[in-house]
Amino acid sequence: MAENQLYVVATPIGNLADITVRAQQVLESVDIIAAEDTRHTKKLLNHLGIQKPLMATHDHNEAQAAQQIIEKLQAGQNVAIVSDAGTPLIADPGYHVAEQVAKAGFKVVPIPGACAVITALCAAALPTDRFIFDGFLPSKSAARKSYFSSVKHEERTTVIYESPHRIMHAVDDLIAELGPEKEIVLARELTKTFETFLRGTAQEVKDIMQADSNQQRGEFVMMVRGVLANKKLEVSQEALDLTLLIAQELPLKKAAAIVSTHTGFKKNQLYQLALEHKGE
Ligand code: SAM
Repeated sequence: MAENQLYVVATPIGNLADITVRAQQVLESVDIIAAEDTRHTKKLLNHLGIQKPLMATHDHNEAQAAQQIIEKLQAGQNVAIVSDAGTPLIADPGYHVAEQVAKAGFKVVPIPGACAVITALCAAALPTDRFIFDGFLPSKSAARKSYFSSVKHEERTTVIYESPHRIMHAVDDLIAELGPEKEIVLARELTKTFETFLRGTAQEVKDIMQADSNQQRGEFVMMVRGVLANKKLEVSQEALDLTLLIAQELPLKKAAAIVSTHTGFKKNQLYQLALEHKGE
């Protein structure tokens, strides 16, 4: 192992077998582990049979912890940073440490593994080619509603974290802003015994949760299907205007065919769109 490096180590989000071989090797070989909650990490290390000095590195002491970590790196030591579960820095502490360490000229090395966003997405059966992750939903209803309203026209799949005691309120606020028909997926208790994917319209998912209070328990990742891409973007305004202009002299189908030949836009799309805009 090279010296003076900060390793950002992912740990399991439920199933302890999800620790990677590399994560174990790194945790075994570093000089010290910076942990969000040292008691929590101690349990994982005990399970792995690893004994290491731990230092607390959480939201409230990150600046100070970053300084201590830099001093250790300067002294030639290797440091790992872990959070309570999953990938550090992803809606978890560690950003300030990584930033300060990189600024101080040391290498920040990722040790990938479980991450709730990706674990949820890969089995949600929603489009995954493009997505946005917005961390935790706001805790107040007004702010949550305003958040949902801001993603009303979002074409990408939206992924959000929500705590168990607010999940029903979050579904209610989503319904208020995006409507009961909005398609959502709630990934619950990922990699754990009661792992569940609730899929359907927001109203259907709410009904399932109301009918069975067990479905309201545990940890959740909320995913919202994006709106269909705006077909109009596939034809330029200029091509549409030209089609409408020519259509004043020729049948619309002919006009669309002419513009399609000269611009490369699809004839049918030009025709459909021109049809919608004719007479405006
Ligand atoms: N850094 C972690 C990650 O991305 O894997 C997430 C840490 S964040 C403080 C904790 C939130 O992640 C939970 O409130 C929940 O929304 C989500 N989460 C973590 N583990 C989960 C699991 N097993 N099942 C569902 N959601 C989970």
